[in-house]
Amino acid sequence: MDTDTGQGTSTPAQDGTPAPDRFPAQDRFAAGAQYIAGRLRPGTSGRHQAVVDPATGETVYTYELAGPADVDAAVAAAGAAFPGWSGATPGERSDALHRLAEVLAGRAEEFAQAESLQCGKPLRLTREFDVPGTVDNAAFFAGAARHLQGTSAGEYSGDHTSYVRREPIGVVGSIAPWNYPLQMAAWKILPAIAAGNTIVLKPAEITPLTSLLFAEAAKEAGIPDGVINIVSGAGRDAGEHLVGHPDVVMTSFTGSTGVGKRVAEIATRTVKRVHLELGGKAPFVVFDDADLEAAVHGAVAGSLINSGQDCTAATRAYVQRPLYDAFVAQVAALMETVRLGDPFHDGTDLGPLISHVHRDRVAAFVERARGYATIVTGGETPRGDGAYYPPTLIADAAQDSEAVQAEIFGPVLVVLPFDTDDDGIALANDTPYGLAASAWSRDVYRTGRATREIKAGCVWINDHIPIISEMPHGGYKASGSGKDMSAYSFEEYTQVKHVMYDNTAVARKDWHRTIFGDR
Ligand code: NAD
Repeated sequence: MDTDTGQGTSTPAQDGTPAPDRFPAQDRFAAGAQYIAGRLRPGTSGRHQAVVDPATGETVYTYELAGPADVDAAVAAAGAAFPGWSGATPGERSDALHRLAEVLAGRAEEFAQAESLQCGKPLRLTREFDVPGTVDNAAFFAGAARHLQGTSAGEYSGDHTSYVRREPIGVVGSIAPWNYPLQMAAWKILPAIAAGNTIVLKPAEITPLTSLLFAEAAKEAGIPDGVINIVSGAGRDAGEHLVGHPDVVMTSFTGSTGVGKRVAEIATRTVKRVHLELGGKAPFVVFDDADLEAAVHGAVAGSLINSGQDCTAATRAYVQRPLYDAFVAQVAALMETVRLGDPFHDGTDLGPLISHVHRDRVAAFVERARGYATIVTGGETPRGDGAYYPPTLIADAAQDSEAVQAEIFGPVLVVLPFDTDDDGIALANDTPYGLAASAWSRDVYRTGRATREIKAGCVWINDHIPIISEMPHGGYKASGSGKDMSAYSFEEYTQVKHVMYDNTAVARKDWHRTIFGDR
């Protein structure tokens, strides 16, 4: 593996080109990291948070965290904006979202720079995946805003006409993780506001920059103040206050399964609608007739995307015995060609993990695995200031071991052999999670069986990772409930109301007999 991880400098270059100027976070958000009623302001918690560039360990922005009073102000702003925004026509909301897609596209480079800075993601990834995906999402929900659907109206009782209204719900409180801050903000905000709701979003406190930029872009696009509010605060106080807030009618949470359970508990106290997008441990099932080259490349790319900090990343490769040895050798060899380095240089394939704390957590998983499995490649923390960790392949782990069962959330793939097709599918289903999976085979009956029997919200055949705005994203089992993206997500942010008209104009209805008898 080629590793140029900085070793104490902030801008190592594999190709000799100078690094571009970093996103000027401190100047850009000098007014604070709370975006409430259309303007930036500082928090009032009295506690400060550093945003750290994980490639260098340098603090790039410091801000005062949101406290409960900031959450209250944001919820009030969203509540005040609700009558106007929910009363706009679908066409007006659609126009605003089309303009937002244009503003986002026009500022794509600024978004990519800010996202790479706060997350350590290679610019190649933010320019080609995070930002265009977000622009496409905005365009998709601009279209979806005009396509509310419901049961057609009809005289189902004979005496009445019934129809269904789909109405916005009210103020939505959403919470996002740090792994895709921009895309998660977009996945939460866009369907909510397309359907006429207003929103308070809490990004992860270590990655607020692109959520703030998104809110500013929405203002530039003409979306009224108060429709989108951002509270940059810690989970325990700002997060829990938002989830428990009596004026928030729906909680949409993306994050770990452990925190998701806590969020669900709090939201239940005020009978909120709850949407949970939680952890994953995606299986990658390779049958013995698979295209080995495709499976090897798919496994390496699918496990290393965003340094493995992806809830759908390939984490458990199950390979049918005839292909197992070749698969292990080729995946290890390909992983060793992946270049760790400065996110801002073109030659970099993988950046650092999100933080040193998280890197050490990932490294600790691998250290424990040494006691019960084989580290085929990787597994050594590089020297230097950045939070880097190399692509790592683990073999010989038991199915019930920690490396196979727990979400590591780093560039770590575990590989296990299997014998029969029954075994491959049973092993794929044998974790608490069910977010995503893939199956690799040239046989349509084998892949068809995998799509039916693997319990996951998404099953890819002969690929692993691609997502599209038109299709739903969400989990089975401990990976949560509810969908992001697609028309399914849009519908979750609406309330279905049955409206029934009497058609008879008769004062004494037939069914009144149940009360009055023959009188
Ligand atoms: P996390 O659960 O630690 O935090 C997620 C968010 O919840 C953050 O904004 C955090 O501040 C907030 N939070 C923490 N404690 C809280 C509390 N008690 N009450 C309210 N909010 C609280 O997750 P993370 O480490 O930021 O992100 C990684 C996790 O997210 C992984 O488990 C990953 O699989 C999951 N994830 C899932 C999806 C999906 O679509 N299913 C997408 C991305 C990430």
